[in-house]
Amino acid sequence: MSHERARADGIPVFSPRLDEVMASMLKGEAPNVGRFCAHCYTPLTKSAQTCPHCGFETAARPPLPKLPPEIFALYRRMRRRESLIVNSFAFAGLGIGLVLFVVLVALAVYRFEQSWAMLAVALAVLLVGGRVFAGILGGWIGDQIGYDFARKRLVAEWEEFERQRDVRRDAIPKPTVAAADEPTGTR
Ligand SMILES: [Zn+2]
Repeated sequence: MSHERARADGIPVFSPRLDEVMASMLKGEAPNVGRFCAHCYTPLTKSAQTCPHCGFETAARPPLPKLPPEIFALYRRMRRRESLIVNSFAFAGLGIGLVLFVVLVALAVYRFEQSWAMLAVALAVLLVGGRVFAGILGGWIGDQIGYDFARKRLVAEWEEFERQRDVRRDAIPKPTVAAADEPTGTR
């Protein structure tokens, strides 16, 4: 769901396919070999002439045999930001459970003549409520905010990466294919 939203906004981030492939490469489930779009790094099929994600033609920029380390660094930072935010929200949820527990215990002790039933409810709120709040805040609100924040930062970093990459690419003199192919000794 979130991926479609990012694409609908036109944010030039990792394509869903690249996202998937990098996740399994980082887990060590897949080797970093293949055929990748030289513009957006989306994995291409053996015969693809055009990138299905960004539309770049392989004739304009030859596909890469492996993903560059910078792309993994961008990916890692994005994931780290995401999980930092999700975890913070989850901890806030646990905190809410803890605060409720303290309030309920105080009520039980000072208002309800040390009611055991009330203390039991307080304990249940601590154990179950804490997890529920953590799930709601972390898995739902934190997930949304973390995703949006991490993607925005990724877009900024990606643009910077692209700028530097293109500067590097332009600095390298293009190999003149015609000259290289020309047989030298013929007269
Ligand atoms: Zn592409």
